Parts: sequence; structure tokens; C-alpha cells
Amino acid sequence: MKNMNNCIFCKIIAKKAPAKIVFENEDILAFVPKEQVSKGHTLVVPRVHFENVFDIGKNILEKLIAVSKGLSEKLAKENNATGVNLLHASGKDAQQSVFHFHLHVVPRYENDGLDLWLREKL
Ligand SMILES: [Zn+2]
Repeated sequence: MKNMNNCIFCKIIAKKAPAKIVFENEDILAFVPKEQVSKGHTLVVPRVHFENVFDIGKNILEKLIAVSKGLSEKLAKENNATGVNLLHASGKDAQQSVFHFHLHVVPRYENDGLDLWLREKL
């Protein structure tokens, strides 16, 4: 639990920075990112500051995953999405940008032009 100072997600959780919050309970918050890559794109974060998959507690991660499942279903239904990607990065070399654990729920649509899947270098 390091680098909590000036963490933008901690500020959003504390309601000290603006964000459109779409879900919250005692452990988990979900909000719309500054730049959505698809309609319904949402970030799911623990209220307590964990940096990544290496330091987050298993119990809170399980709760976060359960919320993400519910949100996936809700967002897909609301937006008539036909699929969803759940994306996560842990560590700078894994392209993590904000160092407060977060899971992206990205609703997907037929021919939406996004390509979020990883590529093997053949
Ligand atoms: Zn934080």
C-alpha cells in the first residue's frame, strides 16, 4: 500500500476529485474513466489503496471480481453490448498507468473497431 499520496483514484473514492460513479459499496467503487474506449467502459477499484495484483488481498480481489461480473452483465444489457473484455495491468512494464489496482470492464459491440486482444509475435 504505497504511493497513496496524490493517487487520483483515492481522490475519486474520497469524492475529492470528480468522476461519474456507477456503483459503490463498502469495499468497491466503479466509475467512468476520463476517456472511454467503448460505450459503457467502466473502471472497478477497491476503496483501499492497493497498487497491483501483487499486493491486493485475495478477499478484496474476490469481491472486486464479483462486482465486475455484475457490472459486466448490467453494462452489457444497458448498452446492448454483445461482449465484454475484462482488462487489468499490474506494473509499469505491463502498461499499468495508475498505480491503484483497477479492472477495466469494456463492453464490446459488433464491428466496434477495437482490438484489445494480445498478439503473439510469430
Ligand atoms: Zn489510490
